[in-house]
Amino acid sequence: MSDASICQAKEKLSKLPKINIGFYPTPFHKLDHLSELLGINLYLKREDLSGFSPFGGNKIRKLEYIIADAIQKGFTKAITFGAIQSNHAMQTAAACRKYNLEPILYLHDEYDNATKQKFNGNFWLDSVLGAEIHTYPSKQEAEQNAIRRIEEESIYYIPSGGASIIGTAGFFDAFFEIQNQAFENNVKIDYIYHASGSGGTLAGLLAGKTVGQSPIEIISIAVGEKDDTYEETVTEKANQFLQLIDLPIRSSAQDIHFNREFYLPGYGLPNMGASNAIKLLAQKEGILLDPVYTGKAFQALLKHVEEGRIPQNSTVVFLHTGGSLALFSGTDVIGPWLP
Ligand SMILES: *Cc1c(COP(=O)(O)O)cnc(C)c1O
Repeated sequence: MSDASICQAKEKLSKLPKINIGFYPTPFHKLDHLSELLGINLYLKREDLSGFSPFGGNKIRKLEYIIADAIQKGFTKAITFGAIQSNHAMQTAAACRKYNLEPILYLHDEYDNATKQKFNGNFWLDSVLGAEIHTYPSKQEAEQNAIRRIEEESIYYIPSGGASIIGTAGFFDAFFEIQNQAFENNVKIDYIYHASGSGGTLAGLLAGKTVGQSPIEIISIAVGEKDDTYEETVTEKANQFLQLIDLPIRSSAQDIHFNREFYLPGYGLPNMGASNAIKLLAQKEGILLDPVYTGKAFQALLKHVEEGRIPQNSTVVFLHTGGSLALFSGTDVIGPWLP
């Protein structure tokens, strides 16, 4: 690891405009019971405790850079899109409110009829936050209408999941935060496990790993169907970010370990393995995951320990990316296996 290049990266990062809405660093702690049970050293990185509401999560770090960029460019409105229960959409609405931007959300719901959406979870909070909300029965329609809207009006555009080039700064920074906490705890990390959707989190972690020349293996678990261009797209985003902050180094798609085995039957739809993973963490440690993202990623971690893909005595960090509101979004999100 080259300390000089990390210092240089941090200095470049500090030149990007940024607002402070989360409470960082987020906690990093060991899970004693599960470590013993699994024969590994298992740590949690608590992005779920990022703030600034009790329903924080990984979108806050990205929004600190994204919203700052919108303000600096003089916008008064921001638009984003996502699934009907999108954590990102709700967090974006909250961040916009704090900085006097009008939040506009284009949401889609494939599994339901747009006229009978469940008024709960994030979707309900979007209304409490007073966001302008438009709903569509498909992702394509939501996207097309959002794009038409920004052609008509001057609105800052935030891609799904906050996975913009600027947003990549969030988990680039987080990668070094995790490294520091590991160092303070006298821990040498072998693996980081996390749920991957839009890829913004992974792009940031990947850029951080590249700059830090870190041997940590980042294992990313798909939470929905992704075609085989995903790895290249994420790498490209990492590299566009490294270019943006003027660093000469580039990431390689070979450093991505993207696993498509655990998301079925589909994005936002529960499965038994994830439900069991949620129960295990709840009943051994008293910590709650969510069925859409973290439950599916934690299921993968458990399976990989069982299969020996993670050798015994390894040190593993699980990134708890948030999503707790999904636990209160109705039976079709939670599934029949909980409790
Ligand atoms: C958005 C989200 C993710 C995935 O992060 P990406 O940066 O979109 O890949 C993981 N967990 C939770 C709880 C999320 O809301």
